[in-house]
Amino acid sequence: MKVGIVGLGLIGGSLGLDLRSQGIKVFGVSRRHRTCELAELGNVVDAASTKLNFLSAADIIFICTPLTAIAPTVEQLIPYLKPDTILTDVGSVKESIVESCSRLWANFVGGHPMAGTAEQGIAAARRGLFAGTPYVLAAAETSPKPAVEEVATIARSLGATVYTCSPAVHDRAVALISHLPLLVSAGLIETCQGEANSEILKLAQQLASSGFRDTSRVGGGNPELGVEIARHNRTHLLQSLYQYRQTLDRAIAQIEAEDWTTLAQDLKASQVARPAFLQPHPTQNNHCP
Ligand code: NAP
Repeated sequence: MKVGIVGLGLIGGSLGLDLRSQGIKVFGVSRRHRTCELAELGNVVDAASTKLNFLSAADIIFICTPLTAIAPTVEQLIPYLKPDTILTDVGSVKESIVESCSRLWANFVGGHPMAGTAEQGIAAARRGLFAGTPYVLAAAETSPKPAVEEVATIARSLGATVYTCSPAVHDRAVALISHLPLLVSAGLIETCQGEANSEILKLAQQLASSGFRDTSRVGGGNPELGVEIARHNRTHLLQSLYQYRQTLDRAIAQIEAEDWTTLAQDLKASQVARPAFLQPHPTQNNHCP
């Protein structure tokens, strides 16, 4: 099997490293020559180019570009594909991408590895990024089953747990557990940084420890990715933010009213609810409800 990867950054580069370590031939395409050179030097790919026709022999191509470039990349790839080439993407939002890409290429499977770091670019690529993480396949109803199964097999070979669901259900779920936390976490950093008293701000920066590191991590990542996510998952993200605003308003009202009993009940409910979101990922196939 020959694998192609378009977009040799954090996700595309990490995928290349893992697939090559399994002995799979991997060919990469990225926008900049320098990235292609680094990918070859770092053994991320067997060979790389800035031209999409470089991937004409690939059996399956992972599109790992920023979200806005995914559908245009599919369109530009089409003249070079074999009739049975499988295209899949790794974009963090699925509904709009799966809709447009499946129309362009029937053998398209929408995917989303739920793995990442706060870094970006080829230098951030690392082996084992996907191990022990969920990999969502949010294919269109029309996506051919063998193509979905092929992508699932590769995802499992990375040590990921495969979940399948519709693109719309995916986007609503990740708005809650991934896109809302990104904005909440960024807002937390912004609020602290907005402290007007410089002495207090400096001390807060010095005192910040593991709790602040945990709660600020996802807000301190790639700003372009955050904006892309907000643009592409706007409706679901707004719905989550409105719900979150209600939760904040409730906490404010309880504290203003010194209603410690209700505050304690809500905090207890959060404490009880948290473990269900942090279960280890089983290795068999999973279907989202
Ligand atoms: P990244 O580190 O910035 O990598 C993307 C790479 O794509 C860039 O390094 C750039 O390489 C290349 N590129 C940009 N436009 C291109 C184009 N038109 N054609 C070919 N290559 C192009 O970003 P990433 O974090 O890997 O994210 C990539 C995708 O994965 C996004 O769709 C994102 O939604 C998804 N994703 C990200 C995460 C995460 O936590 N970061 C997690 C899951 C999924 P050059 O150096 O050549 O310009």
